[in-house]
Amino acid sequence: MQASIPTSSPSAIEIVALTKRYGSGKPAVDSINLRIASGSYCCLLGPSGCGKSTTLRMVAGHESVSSGDILLENRNITDLPAAERGTAMMFQSFALFPHLSALDNVAFSLKMKGMDKAERHAKAKDLLERVAMGHLADRTPGELSGGQQQRVALARALITQPKVLLLDEPLSALDPFLRIQMRAELRRWQKELGLTFIHVTHSQEEAMALADTMVVMNHGLIEQVGSPHEIYNRPASEFVARFMGGHNVLDTAAGKIGVRTDHMQIIPAEAALPDGPHNMRAVVSDVEYQGTYVLLGLQKPGVAQTASSTAEFSVMVSEAQFAARPYQVSEAVQLAWAAEAAHPLGLVSVPVAA
Ligand code: ADP
Ligand code: MG
Repeated sequence: MQASIPTSSPSAIEIVALTKRYGSGKPAVDSINLRIASGSYCCLLGPSGCGKSTTLRMVAGHESVSSGDILLENRNITDLPAAERGTAMMFQSFALFPHLSALDNVAFSLKMKGMDKAERHAKAKDLLERVAMGHLADRTPGELSGGQQQRVALARALITQPKVLLLDEPLSALDPFLRIQMRAELRRWQKELGLTFIHVTHSQEEAMALADTMVVMNHGLIEQVGSPHEIYNRPASEFVARFMGGHNVLDTAAGKIGVRTDHMQIIPAEAALPDGPHNMRAVVSDVEYQGTYVLLGLQKPGVAQTASSTAEFSVMVSEAQFAARPYQVSEAVQLAWAAEAAHPLGLVSVPVAA
């Protein structure tokens, strides 16, 4: 299938009805369509096994497609070898060669292409300067900090002059502190270089911190595409609301709705509110202190409390508000929310057993 070319806003990558089947069951990637704007930071987000890496590998040319097309700047790259696509890949924990200097790591792919030493070293030095690593060009990865290694990995990926940089869980092997530092660096380099980044992650927090555009995937399908703000404030489906966290999913006469946990109020049971569309009764099932706020877990009244039961709803209460009126486990309360805080959740794309 050939995709139509003309587009209004320039897209770096256009994915058309892209499908990957490994066996006879449900495809790992199921006829997805996606356009990624040039110069943007795009995060593919979703639970393990939803098809993120498969999608990325098909874009990189490390995996054949079963059907569909991939266009890079309006050029159909679906069947091109990886090296001719204009993409480059940055792997988990950077995958640098431990015995090579930073300079030789960066120059490696030029060496493979047969470029002579002086020329490839000059180019590699240039790139290391660009990522502020020129002064450490002679060190091996073991002599560099995690952040410095990341910059070398970035320079190594950039030496092929890609239009699109592909990153598969690049931060997941790092400890939490370094991960937050490194993601800020990735974001900064992406803006400075003006390249298109496609970053795969299963962490909604990481995607929200990095992305201009988030693509939420589930079972080989795209559930929602939007800015972090759009997706957090208007999750399109129950899956997205639950996966993003910070939302309650409520059954109402009009169907399922989502309400942010910080947009729900908790009201003592004795403040008699009529049962209506924007409030409900509940029982506190757990109280978690979180620093700036307290997270109250709640169940519907009459639900038996067992050690293994998990809260159905959560409400975020500021520390000050909780101090003024603490709630106890087992206490009956009422929940209320403003009409505009509730938004309808569309149908989940029903997972079909493979
Ligand atoms: P993610 O990166 O979102 O965790 P993947 O794209 O790696 O998910 O995998 C999507 C689905 O395809 C999973 O069910 C996985 O088991 C399956 N899969 C991935 N790679 C292969 C492969 N080489 N052979 C067979 N099945 C695969
Ligand atoms: Mg993966």
